[in-house]
Amino acid sequence: MRCPICGKQADPTPANRFRPFCSARCRTTDLGAWAGEGYRVAGREVEDFEHPDDLAKRKKIIH
Ligand SMILES: [Zn+2]
Repeated sequence: MRCPICGKQADPTPANRFRPFCSARCRTTDLGAWAGEGYRVAGREVEDFEHPDDLAKRKKIIH
């Protein structure tokens, strides 16, 4: 079976405590997405991309 978060092979046996995920990290990511945590992280990434561009625009206006 494949982990629904990262797509890597996840152990489908009861030995895998994190089924259907491959690891504790992916299970936490899924729980975070349900709580809106994933959307907040995505928003931060967008800010990081937009910020330098905004500074460049401000510099152009100043010059
Ligand atoms: Zn995973």
